[in-house]
Amino acid sequence: PVHPTAARPLPITVQSENVAYSDEHIVSKFFNRGSEAVFANGMYSVKPVSKPFEFQTTRKVSKTGLMMVGLGGNNGTTLCATILANRHGISWHTKNGIQQPNYIGSVLRASTVSIGTNPATGKEVYVPISSILPMVHPNDLVLGGWDISGLPMDKAMERAKVLDWDLQRQVAPHMAEIGKPLPSIYYPDFIAANQEARADNVIPGSDKQAHLEHLRADIRAFKQKHALDRVVVFWTANTERYSDIIPGVNDTADNLLAAIKASHSEVSPSTLFAVASILEGEPFVNGAPQNTFVPGVIELAERHQSFIGGDDLKSGQTKLKSVFAEFLVNAGIKPLSIASYNHLGNNDGHNLSAEPQFKSKEISKSSVVDDMVNANRLLYKPPAEGAKGKAAKGEHPDHIVVIKYVPAVGDSKRAIDEYYSEILMGGRSTINIFNECEDSLLATPLILDLSILAELLTRVKYRDLSNGAQTEFKPLYPILSLLSYMLKAPLVKPGTDVVNSLSRQRNALEAFLKACIGLEGNGDLLLETRIW
Ligand code: NAD
Repeated sequence: PVHPTAARPLPITVQSENVAYSDEHIVSKFFNRGSEAVFANGMYSVKPVSKPFEFQTTRKVSKTGLMMVGLGGNNGTTLCATILANRHGISWHTKNGIQQPNYIGSVLRASTVSIGTNPATGKEVYVPISSILPMVHPNDLVLGGWDISGLPMDKAMERAKVLDWDLQRQVAPHMAEIGKPLPSIYYPDFIAANQEARADNVIPGSDKQAHLEHLRADIRAFKQKHALDRVVVFWTANTERYSDIIPGVNDTADNLLAAIKASHSEVSPSTLFAVASILEGEPFVNGAPQNTFVPGVIELAERHQSFIGGDDLKSGQTKLKSVFAEFLVNAGIKPLSIASYNHLGNNDGHNLSAEPQFKSKEISKSSVVDDMVNANRLLYKPPAEGAKGKAAKGEHPDHIVVIKYVPAVGDSKRAIDEYYSEILMGGRSTINIFNECEDSLLATPLILDLSILAELLTRVKYRDLSNGAQTEFKPLYPILSLLSYMLKAPLVKPGTDVVNSLSRQRNALEAFLKACIGLEGNGDLLLETRIW
């Protein structure tokens, strides 16, 4: 039997004058309802607004390849083995009995949304999110990618020490078919020195323009070999140090392209992969915390209308924090400090034991409570007018993050968080959370969700009907902030606010998918249950 999370979802049809289905498209009319609020003359003045839009979703799912950078790492091998076990229906013995493959932990495959109430029973009807719109099934993804380590995939899975042996034993021949990862680019300065021993599969030379062309050729060849419509390129390689943002080097698209031509030392491998993907018109997602998306990359993505998303997978401690801090602040309780400790023993932890790489992770983990604090100026004083630097954030809880490498615990990361809060009348509350994050098993479903959503969003176009004029449908803005739910430090359109709250991120995703089939997003009012 196929596990329910791996089953093909049943289609949904919406009967509404706002939705039209053709063989090729689903076109929906959507009113973006909100309100404009201004503060003047000692009062708030609020005006409800409703702007009409149309969404057009191509129904045919692209034949999609997933090319991972860091294919031979813990995430890369766990993802491949998971897909292959699901695809080939491999079940295995554990000490608890027989285990079936599944996609538990994937929002798209294993969580549901309400699509309405059944009038006969009055009960809400829930469906998998993946049935709202046509999406790639993970079993159908064509797998490939790069690694600076040339260990073949069956052996790399063994090295990762993540999956049960009886599963590894059975899936190994399928992993061996993926073979050896493609050689990658290795600039030792960007990752920890302790990774050097792995780097036996590198593209020779130091000419960054030649490296860029090599990566572009790899993407094209993979696409052609497997007759793909779409390739998602996904960085799940080691965390790099931050790149310095240097005027004239990586601050604009043209400067960045020139810096690549000149093999400038501040152009990182991940930035080269992002540029290669953008120039090939294929989506690129950054699953690690470094600033791959220097301003020049963002401008290049805008210029080519090519999709990018990031940064850093939100799998364990930060995911919990983006729920827990919101719970406290929205309950009217004031966190005074959040102290977070982690220790882990996998290769990611080894790499993060070097200071510059730790710094990237620290930054990405740190901003997660900012939006909740900003939303509640009853509890936290706003910044003084004209405040600069740290003071510009206004009052803020103390927030520290510590990461230590403890080889013995392997992939099983341990995270300890203390929330110390002010409660009524000067009282204090302390909550400690100990969280064991099976790292790669939590990260793998996120890589799937991000890749599947990225492909879907390339098929969704929109037009603004505000002026009544029939303008052309156009693609979404290139920075895919709709991916935020799975990301620790979501990249958003410049000038717009980051939303870290997990529930708001999920609501946004649900509302968007439903808008594409002409349904209202949030049905939590449940008015019929409140009235006579
Ligand atoms: P890993 O060390 O097991 O795998 C990374 C792989 O990348 C290695 O095989 C390494 O050889 C390869 N690599 C390094 N530089 C490369 C390059 N320039 N080109 C191609 N390959 C390269 O780590 P992992 O546990 O799989 O995690 C991968 C990334 O995901 C890390 O950056 C980590 O911080 C990030 N991440 C992981 C989680 C999680 O829960 N597992 C959560 C958030 C972010």
